[in-house]
Amino acid sequence: MKIFPYRFRENQREMYDFIEDNAGDYPLCIQAPTGFGKTPVTLSALLEKGGKILWVVRTGTETDRPVEELKKINEKGGEFLGLSFRGKRDMCLLVREKITESSISYEDVSFFCERNMKNCIYKKNLDDFNTIPDRPMLYSELLELSRRERICPYYYQRKIAPYMDVISINYNYIINENMLWSLRRILDPKETYLVIDEAHNLQFIAMNLNSDSISTNSISRAFDELNILGNSPGLYDTLRKLQIMLSSLISRKKEMRLEFERILDEIDDPQIENLIKAGTRIRSNRMKEGKRPFSSIYHIGNFLYQSKLLYDEEGIAFILRREKKNLILERWDMRASEILGKVWGLFKGDVFISGTLEPVDAFSDVVGLKSYRYLKIPHDVEENNIKSMIINGVSTRGE
Ligand code: SF4
Repeated sequence: MKIFPYRFRENQREMYDFIEDNAGDYPLCIQAPTGFGKTPVTLSALLEKGGKILWVVRTGTETDRPVEELKKINEKGGEFLGLSFRGKRDMCLLVREKITESSISYEDVSFFCERNMKNCIYKKNLDDFNTIPDRPMLYSELLELSRRERICPYYYQRKIAPYMDVISINYNYIINENMLWSLRRILDPKETYLVIDEAHNLQFIAMNLNSDSISTNSISRAFDELNILGNSPGLYDTLRKLQIMLSSLISRKKEMRLEFERILDEIDDPQIENLIKAGTRIRSNRMKEGKRPFSSIYHIGNFLYQSKLLYDEEGIAFILRREKKNLILERWDMRASEILGKVWGLFKGDVFISGTLEPVDAFSDVVGLKSYRYLKIPHDVEENNIKSMIINGVSTRGE
């Protein structure tokens, strides 16, 4: 109550007390309407209890929201530190100087950083920069500070993360095993409350994590890359074999479930390795030319490699489908419950908040939550406070 920066409105106090009384003892599921003030209530109640907070959001662009509320809490006398944590794609200063193409992916920037970090001036400068911010930092503020000091913003945020009371971050960091492992090097989950904002999105994010696709169009682009690479008959044969197999397997059907072993019967490990090696060469060459380090050959090789690791797991499915002349082979990962269920027990406490969690039993089932306490804040709006409007030309893009 001391920390909450506003006057409680209807039902906010109930949610605040619910979190304060139960967080850490049970996972909490809370459904409250949009605009209710879920962020400041949850943040204040957990800070009041002590411990750190890892606040996870669906997309990187939403990480600033809890940090803005933390600033409000500090205006009322709080002394908390917080950080809007972003991935390398949003943070890397060097890639902005060296790569001219704009649509660069997370994977591209990781590849770029791996190969450039050793000589990166921003990373070197960071070795001698040990200042800890004295206030919560929004993404733009951290980037601005890093530009001014000529330090790497990505590794700077990792350096200061252990001093933060609140870290706001993308869902992928808790769902992806490797990212979670890297996160655990900068915070101790047993000392940290995990808040999952807009938690109804979890299952879709988890489904997308190991899902991927290749197509006959991407194989055609891979042939174009082979022309640039020069003499590579082995790679040509592998891609041609894959192309023919996809066509013959689907035959006249529009869509079918595919047993991935049938691909593996024809394409062996050394062939997959060669695709990855050649694709890596293409990525490096493109990077040197200031282009996005993308390669269709690499993508196909990596798809086959990852699929080989996963294909016999329960919950992994392969679908081959036709879209006009293009044939698309998709890998679907439907193990959301299994993947997510392993995460919740790691933390000091879990709080799932959303405007739409119901039916909550189905939600808990899908996200692998075995037991929980549930609070539903009713959506009571007086009739004379409602004004309906239809407005043209409004989008959800925040334009
Ligand atoms: S160390 Fe930082 S600035 Fe340098 S390449 Fe990696 S992410 Fe980019």
